[in-house]
This record gives sequence, C-alpha cells and structure tokens, in this order.
Amino acid sequence: MSYVFTPAPVASVPVAGAAGQFPVRRIYCVGRNYEAHAREMGHDPNREPPFFFMKPADAIVVVPEGTTGEFRYPTQSQDVHHEIELVVALQSGGVDISEADALSHVFGYAVGLDMTRRDLQGEAKKLGRPWDTGKGFDGSAPIGPIHRASEIGHPSRGAIWLDVDGKQAQRGDLNELIWSVPETIAYLSRFFELKAGDLVFSGTPSGVGAVARGQLLEGGVEGVGELRLHVR
Ligand code: MN
Repeated sequence: MSYVFTPAPVASVPVAGAAGQFPVRRIYCVGRNYEAHAREMGHDPNREPPFFFMKPADAIVVVPEGTTGEFRYPTQSQDVHHEIELVVALQSGGVDISEADALSHVFGYAVGLDMTRRDLQGEAKKLGRPWDTGKGFDGSAPIGPIHRASEIGHPSRGAIWLDVDGKQAQRGDLNELIWSVPETIAYLSRFFELKAGDLVFSGTPSGVGAVARGQLLEGGVEGVGELRLHVR
C-alpha cells in the first residue's frame, strides 16, 4: 500500500513493566457514571441507561509513571474542567459481549483525565448540538501507563481522587460506579463492535471544577496508579 503522504503515527500508551506500547484504536467515554457527579451536573442519579461519547485516539497525552506531564490549556474556552477517571484498555472485543465475558477482553487499566471545555459542552447541551468541541479537543485525554490486568487484577473498589495544588477536589470510590466495568463493556458492545486497542473512560466522581494555568493536578486510582500534570 502506498499513501499520498506519510500517515499519522498510531497513538499509543506505554505498558507498565513491559517493552511494547498499547496502540489506541478508539476512545469511548461514559457520561454521568457516579451518582454524586450526576447530581452535581443537575441530573437525576437514578439508573438511566449509560450513554457514551468519543474522543479521537490522538487526543491522548501520555504522562509516563513518576513524571509530571503537561496539559496545555485549550483555545476557545474560559471554563476547562478536570474529570479524573479509571480507563479500561481492551485487548479484544466483539459485539453483544455478555457481562460474564466482559472482563476477559480487558488488557489492563490506567488513570486518565477526561478534560472538558465545560462552557462549550454546556452550550451544546442547551442547543441540542454534539459535544465534540467540548469533549474531543486536542490534548483532552491525559493518561498514565496501562497496568496489565494480569498484574493488578480487575479493580472494582478503591479510591479514585484528584487534588489541585495539594487540595482535595475530587474523591470517590470505584464501587460507586453506576454502571460497572463489565456492564459498561456489555452495553457499549451492543452499539459498536469493540476491538483490541479501544480505551473506555469509565466516568468521573463528583468534585469536578475549573482548572487554571499554573496549577498542579495530582490524581490516582487505588490499585492502578497515579497521574500528575501541570496546566500550561
Ligand atoms: Mn467524563
């Protein structure tokens, strides 16, 4: 195959304790998946079906373990929010995956941020428009290395948190997920054929808020890892 110009490189995430990179195919995100966050966004926290949006694969910004990364404040927004999330990385996929089978498709887990231009997202909601400019902007998906499920298991409880300049901002527990990881994979696979390389951002706990240039964001998921970056 010859191309008329050199194709863009494949977006990829390092794998903790392994030589190879995890190649990213698609990034799916779950909206309002913690009760307290649904409430803070003005929604009924009752168990409505999960809903999804996507980010481009090259929206990731890799932050190697033990380093401080950089989030570049995006254009066209005065209200960029942090959303700390457990990220699920798939090694295989399919359609109509059963909940019982779902975890067999998981390669591992990472800590990620679903950075959001809240002002643009709010306007899109009001006007019934797509969320892409609010959610899918360049650099909107900072992520740490993927930790293999064969090493850390499948976390279903444990703290998930984000501190801003050393002060607690977001705090929750994975056991508060409205739709668990297996349920999310099963549900998502009814709408899309999932494949190896897909990432699923599983939703954020309450405490989301605006970031400002110069701030230090430090977050993590118990049993998975930590993520640290400066806002530039
Ligand atoms: Mn989110």
